[in-house]
Amino acid sequence: MEYMSDELKRRRRLIDPPDVEKEKIYGDGGRSGYWERIKNTVVTEIPNTTFGDIGCSTQVKRELIFIFQCLVNPFLLKKYGLKQTRGILLHGPSGTGKTLLIKALANMFNVTLFLVSLADIASKWQGEQELTMNILFSYAKANIPSVIIFDEIDVICPDRRKTQDAEQKIVSIVLQNMDGFKNLDGVIVVGTTNLLQNIDIALLRPGRFDKIIEIPLPDQETREKIFEIHCRNKLYKEIDYRLLAEKSEGLSGADIEGVVQSVLQSNIRTAVYENREPDNLYTEDIIKALLKCTQRTGNTHENHFRLSYT
Ligand code: ATP
Repeated sequence: MEYMSDELKRRRRLIDPPDVEKEKIYGDGGRSGYWERIKNTVVTEIPNTTFGDIGCSTQVKRELIFIFQCLVNPFLLKKYGLKQTRGILLHGPSGTGKTLLIKALANMFNVTLFLVSLADIASKWQGEQELTMNILFSYAKANIPSVIIFDEIDVICPDRRKTQDAEQKIVSIVLQNMDGFKNLDGVIVVGTTNLLQNIDIALLRPGRFDKIIEIPLPDQETREKIFEIHCRNKLYKEIDYRLLAEKSEGLSGADIEGVVQSVLQSNIRTAVYENREPDNLYTEDIIKALLKCTQRTGNTHENHFRLSYT
């Protein structure tokens, strides 16, 4: 269709769960419109992210790639008696590329991706959360190899000792579903969080989220790569990436993207306003933007470093 966005065009066609499964979930079938809605809410895009778009440590990359290799090639597991990883918990500061990494892996291994946030599951109606979650897991099973990402899992599955009834219920539903598909290969559940300490401890039990991987703020070498990735624009010339990396300690990948984009934006805005072609941009332009924001805010995430670039 002419008006479809790129994302919609790249949505994966999902296979419906087997009829038996549908009967189990929908009972009399009166809710078929409901599961169509869920199917369309949870993003099942085919990502176009690659590892070339991400600055990340080789060790983390290798570890994740191996888990996905086992997911798409279960013979590897059978041959050596390994068990498939059921769940991966990626934790670390905001904007370090946790979601991006899983998108790159889903793309690399052609895995069906379900991206879920609290808004997709939360409901005030009795039983609706269970239904949504069951449908989600049924679709994941029917479309293996597949990955379900729970974005900000600390909000979806908070520590039950500190929460109210409704939130406790979602945690139980997630646990039930994770245990329920124990014998099914081909599905991995990924949770991402900035607040590992707020997650319900039951999720961390072996057999559920058994791989816990920290994605820290990028080190100097990784920042260099991230600047390179985000300065691919034609207007950036002769950029000294090493210098930029030295001057940007404490920034996340998302912060770096923000700085680079802000410089580009103000350059193009001025050019449009003055009705001329935009200037080329050099290392000093980015350094100026970096200095401006570090002076204003303090250059650490511990200070709740949030950039304001204008
Ligand atoms: P949050 O914890 O807040 O959800 P996150 O760790 O999942 O954040 P992403 O959503 O994956 O972070 O990243 C946000 C954006 O920041 C990405 O789309 C990308 O443009 C940029 N970015 C973050 N980390 C990196 C990285 N390591 N390399 C390149 N770009 C990055």
